[in-house]
Amino acid sequence: MRLTENLYLVGSGLTGMMLTDSWDCNCYVADLGDYRILFDCGAGVKTELITEEMERDGISLGEKDWLFLTHCHLDHVGGAYDLQKAFGVRIAVPAGEKPILTLGDEVESGLKAAKRAGYYPDEFHITPCASDRSLNDREIWKAKKGRLEVLAVKGHSPAGCCYYLEMPEGNVLVTGDQVDADGKISLQVIPGADVLGYAESMEKLQEKEVDILLPGHGRVLLKQGKTAVETAVKRLGALFV
Ligand SMILES: [Zn+2]
Repeated sequence: MRLTENLYLVGSGLTGMMLTDSWDCNCYVADLGDYRILFDCGAGVKTELITEEMERDGISLGEKDWLFLTHCHLDHVGGAYDLQKAFGVRIAVPAGEKPILTLGDEVESGLKAAKRAGYYPDEFHITPCASDRSLNDREIWKAKKGRLEVLAVKGHSPAGCCYYLEMPEGNVLVTGDQVDADGKISLQVIPGADVLGYAESMEKLQEKEVDILLPGHGRVLLKQGKTAVETAVKRLGALFV
């Protein structure tokens, strides 16, 4: 589903628009001219629905394209192995979470805790998957149609990343689960949870002028994306979350 000239929503489950499988997070494609980046890839239950959605948008991923992961929770990385196998797409993962993907680590990914809480069925797993690049804080990627900056964040998972893109349609922030369109944060009782780190990271995101906010769940903001970040910073600043 095309959102703007170069941005597409290609995956979204029950917490979003039910475009693909119900377990999927929101997945987006940014067309940067030289290559495309798919941000997150759903839970891996029916990855073919994401592929079909991309086909409807005229997108077929290939070896020059990238899958950027925001963090290694199942609903964001479950499709990585299948997409790599099917299309040869290159995978870039936040440096601090690379071992989670490589090992399919159920403890560090929070999957074990989520199963214990009855959120995911027992048969769900993260298929171990090799990555091509580790992404580090403040790393810059330049392309014909945009510039991307990696912003390492803490609080929701052990070592996730948000991605800030300057594109023809405006400044874009891909947030994963760090903050949604309502300014809601996602602090769970799982490995990596860190309330002080969360507050610090949100202040870091607030430095950026954001037009378009692309969160991992819920709705998208096509304008005034910074309001969501500001709301979260205000809430965290109020001492009680
Ligand atoms: Zn998450």
